Amino acid sequence: SPTVVIVGAGHAGGTLAGMLRQQKFGGRIVLCGDETHPPYHRPPLSKKYADDEFVQWLKPESFYADNEIDTLLGDPVSRIDRDARTATTVSGTVLEYTTLVLATGAAPRTLSLPGSDLEGVLSLRTLADATMLREAVHSGSALAIIGGGYVGLEVAASARARGCDVTVIEREDRVLARVASRELSTALTDFHRNRGTRILTGAEVRGITGSDGRVAGIELGDGTEIACDVVLVGVGAIPNDALARESGLECLAGIVVDGSAHTSDPHVLAIGDVTYRLHDTLGKMVRLESIPSAVEQAKQAAAVIMGAPLPPHEVPWFWSDQFDLKMKMAGMIGPDTQPILRGDASATSFALFHLDSDGIPVAVETVNAAGEFMAGKKFIGNRTKVDRTALADPATPLREAAL
Ligand code: FAD
Repeated sequence: SPTVVIVGAGHAGGTLAGMLRQQKFGGRIVLCGDETHPPYHRPPLSKKYADDEFVQWLKPESFYADNEIDTLLGDPVSRIDRDARTATTVSGTVLEYTTLVLATGAAPRTLSLPGSDLEGVLSLRTLADATMLREAVHSGSALAIIGGGYVGLEVAASARARGCDVTVIEREDRVLARVASRELSTALTDFHRNRGTRILTGAEVRGITGSDGRVAGIELGDGTEIACDVVLVGVGAIPNDALARESGLECLAGIVVDGSAHTSDPHVLAIGDVTYRLHDTLGKMVRLESIPSAVEQAKQAAAVIMGAPLPPHEVPWFWSDQFDLKMKMAGMIGPDTQPILRGDASATSFALFHLDSDGIPVAVETVNAAGEFMAGKKFIGNRTKVDRTALADPATPLREAAL
């Protein structure tokens, strides 16, 4: 009978295994992971690491056995042989596959700065990382976060709420420079500063200083020293594509896949953060790091394995929670898009629509504005031309903004 071997027991891999059984796949499913836990949700790791609900399993404990999904945890796959169609784990288990699915995710980018290996210098990707952060961050501790991305800002917000002294150090001239509009960066920076977080932009870290092997501070390029007892390095993630590269699969900024999760080998699919693909809605090659994207590709892989029609394309989206701000973003901001603000960006609820030169929204960023998010995502997906004045006026219903 057919065997699907899934390498990576994370969000994408765990979701796919469940979908296959839901769709009555009758073959064998093996879910291999290098972490010792079954799949869990990563979003709470940066948002709720200080709370008790920071561990949220993707499926209940009995799910895998109940659904005859073989799990092989704590034993990474170290080699794949595409001719023999086998995957071999570190402990020597050889798994034969009909379809191999690479769902190996991404790993935190590390810094090669002096002091990076001091005790108390942390990164955040796994439950084990979050447990360390949880123990290190408590009322009265001083946390320095290198990198003002979403993970960094989420950790900053929850640490501040816990009574920590928090400094965010960003190399670019604004936080979220890669992923958000200047308008949203500015609004969020003010929001964090008003809650007592120090945000330094245009700041280069020269080194991390320590005493007795433990972190004690950060030294900036301009000579500034920031005392701290915990450092979180949040400078992005790199795809775990080594297995794919070593076996000769096409890789660029991740494993190259098409819109049906196929790699350059018809028997090997890849899904989730590890993939690099031409996105239909965005019209360009991207490596997305988000739950909706991982789930979208899990659906594609399930359709391929089941021989079912491919699911429709989705507008990429993402969310973030910081303090009492619930943010949702969809689409992608381009170099020439024009922002239209709906609401007041210094308030706790507003939306930014980003229009292309034809007056069609290609991205939307919302803060505590669920209706605006839904409408914006629809505009993007349907390529709806909008009326700028109506869009900018919160008193005008959004459906009246569609032209
Ligand atoms: P992962 O979930 O990382 O799973 C990959 C798994 O494969 C890992 O367990 C890895 O250890 C394992 N693996 C790697 N190599 C091997 C090997 N050789 N053998 C066996 N196993 C291997 N997304 C959102 O949409 N919204 C959010 O708010 C959000 N917040 C986030 C907060 C944090 C702190 C982090 C880290 C991520 C967040 N994300 C968020 C991103 C989201 O979690 C990822 O997009 C998602 O987990 C991707 O799923 P994946 O299965 O591709 O990768």
